[in-house]
Amino acid sequence: MANVLVFIDNPGASLKKAHLELLTLARTLGSSTVAVNGDLTEAATATLAEYGATAVLRPSSADLDDFLVAPKAAFLAAAVESAGAGIVLLDNSPEGKEIAARLGIRLNAGVITDVVAVDPDGTAHKSVLAGSYNTTCKATTPVTVLTVKANNVTPEPAPAAAPAVSTVEVPADAAATAARITGREQKVASGRPDLTDARIVVAGGRGLDGDFGPVEELADALGAAVGASRAATDAGWISHDAQVGQTGKTVSPQLYISAGISGAIQQKAGMQTSKVIVAINKDADSPVFEIADFGIVGDLFDVLPQATAEIKKRKG
Ligand code: FAD
Repeated sequence: MANVLVFIDNPGASLKKAHLELLTLARTLGSSTVAVNGDLTEAATATLAEYGATAVLRPSSADLDDFLVAPKAAFLAAAVESAGAGIVLLDNSPEGKEIAARLGIRLNAGVITDVVAVDPDGTAHKSVLAGSYNTTCKATTPVTVLTVKANNVTPEPAPAAAPAVSTVEVPADAAATAARITGREQKVASGRPDLTDARIVVAGGRGLDGDFGPVEELADALGAAVGASRAATDAGWISHDAQVGQTGKTVSPQLYISAGISGAIQQKAGMQTSKVIVAINKDADSPVFEIADFGIVGDLFDVLPQATAEIKKRKG
């Protein structure tokens, strides 16, 4: 069994589900040390213990967030050495992948992204080419860096003693701190779950004709995140953050409801690994029905409000 290092960046008041998935996966691979950047609350530390983390490593400098991601990779490289880790797990966000790439360079380690499962020997499984193939790969280097897609592991606690917290020295690196962040603006919170973590995603496309209201109402009835096709984000109907697909976010929820989206290959690339896909489209020949588990041929402006009303009724 390997020593596994899990990276958690800015956990906030409580850990995200994606973090709990990484901690659960880590336990199947060996003993888990967690490298945490940013504030670490008592509640978050208690959750780390609840999910079996045996040690927590903190960076010596508190200003890693003042720069782009390079210093985080420097911190992780030092943490890998301190923990004697053979496997590093990160989330599969664009930032997680960039940190993984930079860490791979620093450690001369194999990097595997978009991982959906990991065997106890470190063999990684990926779903590729818009979910048409599953591939299996294993790094041949002493350290393996894996970025793991959310919603592929069921979080399970395994309470352990409170983990020992220690500090690792982040090496001074002029190149890593060359780009300083000069301003930040908080996005207005939607109150909906994060698109990449959400268990349910309701996504809309050009068929909405500029009106995301029916999609948002269904999403809120289900406690879901809202996604979109590129046609909808390019038209400015919804922010680019909501784009799902090859050049947008990759999601893998339990349920993906697609409304007024044709199902182009670039859209499929971001959602085809969803567990259950429900498509609503008025064109029975739309390619989205090729990958849908359930299809409704109809006008989304009729179908979505009925679904929302029925869900609200059943929820009471
Ligand atoms: P359309 O293809 O126009 O489909 C609209 C659908 O809505 C149709 O099927 C229509 O039958 C249906 N419809 C219309 N009115 C109604 C109604 N009232 N009720 C029910 N159904 C209705 N696309 C992405 O989504 N994500 C990406 O990340 C992405 N990346 C790309 C990268 C590259 C390099 C390229 C070249 C393209 C990319 N695209 C991406 C664009 C992609 O090729 C498609 O153009 C886009 O996905 C189409 O969006 P759409 O399905 O919403 O629109």
